[in-house]
Amino acid sequence: MGTLSNGPLESLDQWDDDVRARYRKDRNKEEFRVYDESTPQVVRDFYRQNHALQTLEFARAKRAEYGTLNKTEMGIWEAMERLNELVDDSDPDTDLSQIEHNLQTAEAIRADGHPRWFQLTGFIHDLGKVLTMWGEPQWAVVGDTFPVGCRWSEKIVYPEYFSANPDSTNPELMSRYGVYEEQCGLENVNLSWGHDEYLYHVTKPYLPEEAQYMIRYHSWYSAHREMDYQYLMSDHDMQMMDSVRKFNPYDLYSKSAVKPELATLKPYYEGLVSEFFPAKIRW
Ligand code: FE
Ligand code: FE
Repeated sequence: MGTLSNGPLESLDQWDDDVRARYRKDRNKEEFRVYDESTPQVVRDFYRQNHALQTLEFARAKRAEYGTLNKTEMGIWEAMERLNELVDDSDPDTDLSQIEHNLQTAEAIRADGHPRWFQLTGFIHDLGKVLTMWGEPQWAVVGDTFPVGCRWSEKIVYPEYFSANPDSTNPELMSRYGVYEEQCGLENVNLSWGHDEYLYHVTKPYLPEEAQYMIRYHSWYSAHREMDYQYLMSDHDMQMMDSVRKFNPYDLYSKSAVKPELATLKPYYEGLVSEFFPAKIRW
């Protein structure tokens, strides 16, 4: 399907699986960031590309390009179907389809009695991966996200790969705060471009603020897991990042042996989607 050759990963899921392995519940904290031979070469190659190519200029350009939401108009369900076609058809061996991962995340949130907007957030959180529709390479769709335009945290996986990033030769971008200021607030900070940032712009008008943070920062592991980068956050951001922490276990640990049945669950999620979203939204 063409989207596959757009990077070293065999499928976009391979990155998600790698994050799951990194933060496995039975792994102790020291083990979390240990990378060894068990990490597939393609995943390492993926990070090598991602770290070398996600520059401040690139993230700004993509945000400007996609931020106008002029690519297409489609409903949430259509995006879900497109995503399944794009990602899963290219990877027939996947143990869980994109829609199944979204459903399991949402169902786990629902089972814990969380509000409807939170369930919906679980259901749609990965829809930004439709970026592959417009030919974006894997390194600009998935991967751990991180601020660009300032020094990279040592807590980002494979920090050594950043030496190939052109920003590393610009001292202005390599200070602690870089182009930002201490506690300037995340609204002023550019993160590396990917499915999180994109879906945030698409869904922002329709969702409560906690949901916006969950969507926008769910792959920013060096912040929500490793607790770094607090020096860029406002007090309000610090509070809101708690919602990202609340969301993350559902993304990582809701994978179960039982596949969710879309046919059975569809009426419920149709109700949820139409409660918050119009029939079509801009992408
Ligand atoms: Fe994601
Ligand atoms: Fe996910």
